[in-house]
Amino acid sequence: MISIAIDGPAGAGKSTVAKAISKKLGIIYLDTGAMYRTVALKAIKENVDSLDREKLSNIVKNINMEIRFIDNQQHMFLDNEDVTEKIRTPEVSIGASNVGTIPEVRLKMAELQRKFAEKHNVVMEGRDIGSFVLPNATLKIFLTATLEKRAERRYKELIEKGTTGISMEDVKRDIEYRDKNDSSRSLAPLIKAPDAIEIETTNLTVEEVVDKIIYNMSQRIASFK
Ligand code: C5P
Repeated sequence: MISIAIDGPAGAGKSTVAKAISKKLGIIYLDTGAMYRTVALKAIKENVDSLDREKLSNIVKNINMEIRFIDNQQHMFLDNEDVTEKIRTPEVSIGASNVGTIPEVRLKMAELQRKFAEKHNVVMEGRDIGSFVLPNATLKIFLTATLEKRAERRYKELIEKGTTGISMEDVKRDIEYRDKNDSSRSLAPLIKAPDAIEIETTNLTVEEVVDKIIYNMSQRIASFK
């Protein structure tokens, strides 16, 4: 099986790039952030604090979460309801970052992600895919960009989706909070795997980033022959 791990902080361009790679190579794109978001939504629904380790451990043990691909698009189902849109709010973003600091939550998500990669050729996007979930991924990419650029991208995305009452400063604060959580948690923090290729995307177009990844992928495949 082929697996491409794409990691990096929020707003580094991971989803856009991973989608384009998936289309180009005809392999499935799995957004692992959506899984943490779905756990966070469950916590919100149950009125559970997103940092309550004991309660969150129970939630992930019994969670009825399903990933379905409809017209090649990943949909998240929670208790048989399609929550794909509902998990995109700023409240769920912060919740996802919090639940992601809980080891029991991470271990369960990692297990599901590894099982997925055993069955499918995949471009998997997240924070810990190359460093923890798929240490033997075919190719590991670590995307970065300045905080300003990342906030700008995220803000634009939210505005395009019709989100109102949010400022660029709010988005920046949210990203800074999540960066800090992601980088400082004890299990599987956000780090570049030693064998990952780092691409600084601040001044690159999506096409340029995608081309770099495809080039590295072809080099990687050639090295197996
Ligand atoms: O990628 P996205 O912004 O949707 O992820 C939401 C949150 O889920 C992130 O801020 C991060 O804290 C967490 N996450 C994680 N590990 C992953 C993917 C996401 O901890 N593999």
